[in-house]
Amino acid sequence: MHKQIREAFIEKMGPGGVAIFASNPPARWNHDTEYIYRPDPNFYYLTGFEEPESICVIAPEHPEHQYVLFVRPKNKQAEIWNGKRVGIRDAQRRYGAHKAYPIEKFDEKIGEYLQDAERLYYTLGSNEDVDTKILDRFTRAVKSKVRGGKGIDTLVDPSPILSEMRLIKNETELERMRMATEITVAGHVAAMKAVRPGLYEYQLESLVESTFRMNGAGGAAFPTIVASGGNATTLHYTTNDCKLKDGNLVLLDAGAEYNRYCGDVTRTFPANGTFTEAQREIYQIVLDAHYAIIDGIRPGVSIDEPHQKSLELLTEGMLSLGLLKKKKKIAKLIEDGAYRKFYMYRIGHMIGLDVHDVNCVREANGDYKTFQPGMIITIEPGLYVAEGTKGVSPKYLGIGVRIEDDILVTESGNENLTSGVPKEIEEVEALIRGENS
Ligand code: CA
Repeated sequence: MHKQIREAFIEKMGPGGVAIFASNPPARWNHDTEYIYRPDPNFYYLTGFEEPESICVIAPEHPEHQYVLFVRPKNKQAEIWNGKRVGIRDAQRRYGAHKAYPIEKFDEKIGEYLQDAERLYYTLGSNEDVDTKILDRFTRAVKSKVRGGKGIDTLVDPSPILSEMRLIKNETELERMRMATEITVAGHVAAMKAVRPGLYEYQLESLVESTFRMNGAGGAAFPTIVASGGNATTLHYTTNDCKLKDGNLVLLDAGAEYNRYCGDVTRTFPANGTFTEAQREIYQIVLDAHYAIIDGIRPGVSIDEPHQKSLELLTEGMLSLGLLKKKKKIAKLIEDGAYRKFYMYRIGHMIGLDVHDVNCVREANGDYKTFQPGMIITIEPGLYVAEGTKGVSPKYLGIGVRIEDDILVTESGNENLTSGVPKEIEEVEALIRGENS
């Protein structure tokens, strides 16, 4: 898959360009320990290579080496401590590099690949050390061009090209997205089966994440949110340390990562298996909006359309619950942003290698792009009534509901990749009570 991606990238880069991509440095946990390494998504997308201290050079016009990797060489001692390295030979054999060098040779060798280029493609900001080298190299190249008349004089950020490409998933990416979302579904179903008052939020978190790992996921794609009761009205609540009370709703927002691709699902369900009347009212409004919004997703429709629809449907819902007072027309309420007190984000985000994936959803003129087959977007309407909100019926206070699925745009419309997690009230209640197992 990465070879195809490199070829497509080269085509978009056009003649006269050379591109350099640096892996991101590891992040430190504490003095001698690092976080589990996660490669930079663009670097991974082009190379499939997952080790730090690596640089990729794409030089389409080089006579022999159009694709070059600089990697950590094999080192017995270092490998005893920190695990196996791919090394020089396998960087060529397994990762398809026409030539690979030890990372230490970058300064010495890079000149050869830049000498005939006019434009250098490089993204600043993800690896400071390499940034310095590249800027230095670029400055020197510009100066020598003034003298000699040939060489690089333009530095271009390649990320817009890659973002555009990452927006549409190829077949291999789709397979991985299907696995990531399938495992995500399994985690959510396990949580619904296990939930009961008296459990702690972190116990559900642990169950969801262990279900992900048990099913072959690399882990959670982002910090799992288990928010019971009023915690659900904090959007990115991740403390997960409260006890579930009888009568609480639990908002679970979690996704598995599989081969670097991410799932992202939210369900909101009653800890004791029965929605209260007030919870049911809010839930049904969010659920109806969720279905109606997804229904409208198909190729050619504006990417902004689901959000506009969510504003309309959720504002109507707020009026019917008396959260907003109908002093003005709906259009005016939306224009004034009255909904923001109870619904405070956009309807969803693209998803793929990053959970909040590339966000190039507008054309150069500022208009929204339209949906195309192969895009995957989350749709996650919600209503959140924080404790202490003034002018709201007390029965709604502390209720937060979000229902989120991952939607693949297809030729004929869309496919919900995460519909396997129940969301109809009766189905959710039955699963929690163990009635349909
Ligand atoms: Ca989410």
